[in-house]
Parts: sequence; C-alpha cells; structure tokens
Amino acid sequence: MTCTGVQLAGVVGASSDSQPTTYRRSVITGPHEVAFEEVTIPEPGPRQVLVKVAAAALCTWEQRVYAGIDNWSYPLVGGHEFAGEVVAVGPGVMQPLAPGDQVAVAGLRRCGECWACRRGYDNICDNQHAATREPGKPWGPAGFAEYTLVDGYQVYRYPRPVHPFEAALAEPLACVLHDVKRFMPRRGDTAVVVGAGIMGLLHLAALRSTGAVVVVSEPDALRRAKAVEMGAHFVIDPLSEDYVEAVKRLTDGRGASMTYMAIGVPGAIEQAVQAAAKRGVVSVYASIHPRGTLIQVDPNIFHYKEVVLSGSLAQDHEDFLDAVWSIAHQTIDLKPVISAAFPLLQLEAAFAAASRPDTYRVFVTPD
Ligand SMILES: [Zn+2]
Ligand SMILES: [Zn+2]
Repeated sequence: MTCTGVQLAGVVGASSDSQPTTYRRSVITGPHEVAFEEVTIPEPGPRQVLVKVAAAALCTWEQRVYAGIDNWSYPLVGGHEFAGEVVAVGPGVMQPLAPGDQVAVAGLRRCGECWACRRGYDNICDNQHAATREPGKPWGPAGFAEYTLVDGYQVYRYPRPVHPFEAALAEPLACVLHDVKRFMPRRGDTAVVVGAGIMGLLHLAALRSTGAVVVVSEPDALRRAKAVEMGAHFVIDPLSEDYVEAVKRLTDGRGASMTYMAIGVPGAIEQAVQAAAKRGVVSVYASIHPRGTLIQVDPNIFHYKEVVLSGSLAQDHEDFLDAVWSIAHQTIDLKPVISAAFPLLQLEAAFAAASRPDTYRVFVTPD
C-alpha cells in the first residue's frame, strides 16, 4: 500500500479546541543548560512522517553535550533513541504506515548521495548532521520532545506491540548488531566485550546467541555482576588482574577471537591487540575522547598473527530492521538495561541519573 495523502489522527490541523496545535521540545543550549520551548505541530511534507514520541533514551552523545564535553553541538534538540506512534503520514511515503502504528525512529540521517552512501556504507554517511543544521538554530534528532517530524526512511514499524522503552532501544541495539555482524564470532570462538556499560551489555546480549564463549572485562563490581546476570561465561576485573594474562588464561593461551571495545579507553585497545588470537579481530566500537588521542601497538602483531584492528559506527538500514524484529519477537532481552524514566520536563534530573555508574539506560517520557 502506498500512502499518497496526509492522514490525520485528530492532532494536526484539527479544528476542535481541545486538540493541541503546539508541542513542547527541549533544547540543550549550553553546558548543564536545558530550555523548553513550545513550537507549532508541523504537518508532514512529502515523504515525511509526524511521530508522537512515547519514550526517548539518553545516549552518551547527549550526555556529553549536556556535560559540556561535546561543546560544538549547541543548541541541540537531543534524543536519537526513541519510539512512538505515527500521527500523520505525508504524501509519497512508500511503506504502509497508518496513524496509531507503533514505530522506532532511526534518529541519525543519511544523504544517499555521498560516496559512502552509494557504496552501501550509509552508516558512515558524509552528511549525517549537515541535513538538519543551520547556524544558531536548534537542530538534532529531536526525540526529547512531544512530537517530531522525520523522513519516511527513518521510520520502522513494529509488527506487534512492545513496551515503549524496549521499542526505543532499537537504535542502540541496531548499532551493536552492526558491530557484531561485521565481526561475527563462530562457535568455538571466545569473544571479549571490554566495558559493561549499556553498549557492552547489549553486545553481550547479541553475542549470547552466536555460540561463542563470551567474556566481559569491567572494573566496576556491580557492572560485572550485571554481566554475569545477563549470561557472561566469564568476567575479568582489569584492576585486580592483568587483562592480557586473564584473556590468555581463559582461552588456553590462544587469545580472543573477537574483542569489542565498548569503552573509549586508548590503553585498553593496546591491550586488546596484545590479547588477540591469531586472526583475531579488535573492533573499536566506542569513540575515543579527546579526539586525536593516539595508541601504540607493535606492528609485528599484524604480520605474525594476522590480527585485524578495525571499528564500527552506528547502523545501516538492515541492522535497524533486524533490531526492530528482534525486539518485537523478544529474541533479545533488553529489560536488564532499562534503569529509570523521568518526565520530559525533568530532563536535567534524567541526565543526572544517566551519569551514575549504577544506571544503564535512562528514559524520558513526554507525558
Ligand atoms: Zn545512541
Ligand atoms: Zn551520505
């Protein structure tokens, strides 16, 4: 079915006085500064979809912007991990969407025209941010709001109802599936996840179904316990034991077949390269701050052991589709990483909660 006209569900352009014509959105205007503004609920143009947000998760990017570590994104309307309900569908949207459909939104955009997009690597599009940014004007994926207008290609429909918090985790799960699919372990491999924050734990959840033995390295005892609860075969405390020795001990001296770096610690990448098995892969999943930080590795490791050092960023369309399908059919349990929820107006309290070491994903809900 092709939707050719704007379909209304009693919100956009509604004549009844009780229907809202404006909505609230949050803008991160500077370090530890959040403003709320009322803006007109837009009508979707060609190939656009208006979504009423049900839940949005606070990711590391927005946390860095709020904390002032990333200070080049202001004024930002954050929220790229969110799910909600279709309100209105613009002309020319090709997928069969109807008002009321539960959807997840791929918050990061892609241009479809750059070299990377045309080679099929649209997760590393040249123009991810350019499309929505005008100097001085609030910009961003806009999930920290009551409504948001997105392009049809960003919208993924859930085939059956799921909890809004789980639905909102399609984006980070898709990123993790991208990494695990790029560097897929085989049965008989030992896969190591470095870091048991939300992204490390999602890696663990995705790796549990591959047949690989999964090891999680994490200095925080509570987080190690969480990894065990979620099915890690072994955990390493890199503060009390040498990481390289521990990996060797757990692999009969061979080393790790796959290592997923879910923390941005440069020294840990150096250690992971040292602890890699022959033909082992180390994937730098987490970004490193400050940017420009260098690492040192012995290049002979690449020659004598055919080790691969690579990385992974965001997700492509297929990863997102797979994440939505997995969540809809409960093939991956995301409940253990859902920590807390706050009303949208308490976004700053939500940021404070998200920065605590005992939380994984914290959500805001517009209601
Ligand atoms: Zn994210
Ligand atoms: Zn592109």
